[in-house]
Amino acid sequence: MDKNAVELFESLGVRPIVNAAGPISQYGGGRSRPEVIEAVATAFRVPVQIHELNRRAGETIAEMIGVEAAFVSSGAAGGLVLQAAACIAGTDEDKMKRLPDSTGMNNEIIIQTCQRFGYDQSYLVGGGRIVNAGESEGCSPEQLEEAFTDRTAAAAYLFAAHASRNAVPFDRFCEIAHSRGVPVVVDAANFLPPRSNMRRFMDEGADMVAFSGGKAVRGPQGAGILLGRTEFIEAARANGSPNNFVARSMKVSKEEIVGLITAIKVFLNEDEEAETARYTEMCRQAVDALVEIPGVTVSLEHDGRDYLIPTAVVRFNEDWRGPTQAEILSALSRGDPPVFVRTLGGPGEIGIDPINLDEETLDIVIRRVREALLSK
Ligand SMILES: *Cc1c(COP(=O)(O)O)cnc(C)c1O
Repeated sequence: MDKNAVELFESLGVRPIVNAAGPISQYGGGRSRPEVIEAVATAFRVPVQIHELNRRAGETIAEMIGVEAAFVSSGAAGGLVLQAAACIAGTDEDKMKRLPDSTGMNNEIIIQTCQRFGYDQSYLVGGGRIVNAGESEGCSPEQLEEAFTDRTAAAAYLFAAHASRNAVPFDRFCEIAHSRGVPVVVDAANFLPPRSNMRRFMDEGADMVAFSGGKAVRGPQGAGILLGRTEFIEAARANGSPNNFVARSMKVSKEEIVGLITAIKVFLNEDEEAETARYTEMCRQAVDALVEIPGVTVSLEHDGRDYLIPTAVVRFNEDWRGPTQAEILSALSRGDPPVFVRTLGGPGEIGIDPINLDEETLDIVIRRVREALLSK
């Protein structure tokens, strides 16, 4: 671990951690690449007009990804707020001024109940009222159709690891919404790589798609990527900072904007096969070190759906008599340094996600997970 960075945080009484949980916000997101750190540091040094930077950033990002238009939001969550605001208020100043109070406006945002997720509160911030379609077990096309009214503003779709498999397929979802003239907004915050996902959902019919800038893209933590059709991105921009409307509190600094552009550039230029091979090799090391522990099954997972990059997964067999997942997590987080592993797959497994690891920290994770598994 970088010695200066460790000292800086320790001087504040904060312990640096080893993050094998993936690029999630709670543990600091994805680690920034050196190019991004340098671009951010450089951008601090001169002022610019934010409107001009915002516009150029959007054009540059849209061109790199191959979509119509883009806007830098404050994280993917800020992108969801802008999705709602754009679909509900558009560029109507009277309406923009009133958000998040959307009384009298078309403000219903349809989400399939089986896709309700921790971040969908952001749609309320943008003035949305959530309308559930179907049940928590799944949603049929007919149930989705029943959810539309003359007050529907948007239909929202989630792409995420471990998301429901019983949702209406995306192409059908778009068809149903568009046949009623309703835009489709997508949260795909953490659904990268593959890099092809960056434009895939726009190509498949979405009107706006939100990604995190600080997760797999490894840009600044506060930045997000909002892609969309020009009309919607213009509306998102109108509602966004630095304008004094609903998303004014979701400011993205010029340093973060510049850092994000750099991060996307490096991310898109990276050889995905070589990257996957590197992650695979790291996970192999973990699998080899843990596979002989009796009572667990250890495997390398990479399916483009629940495990977007190669991940080493330890699953507890029925005859497992060792510590529970909770006990393992507690031992890992209480040790020195604190270690965090992936738990998205539920209580029956722990995962080692290599995205934030290097040789040194991978060794620490493997050793500590082994010790924790064998501690009882
Ligand atoms: C992380 C995440 C978000 C929020 O992204 P930020 O960039 O941290 O704002 C939203 N939705 C999903 C599904 C996520 O995984």
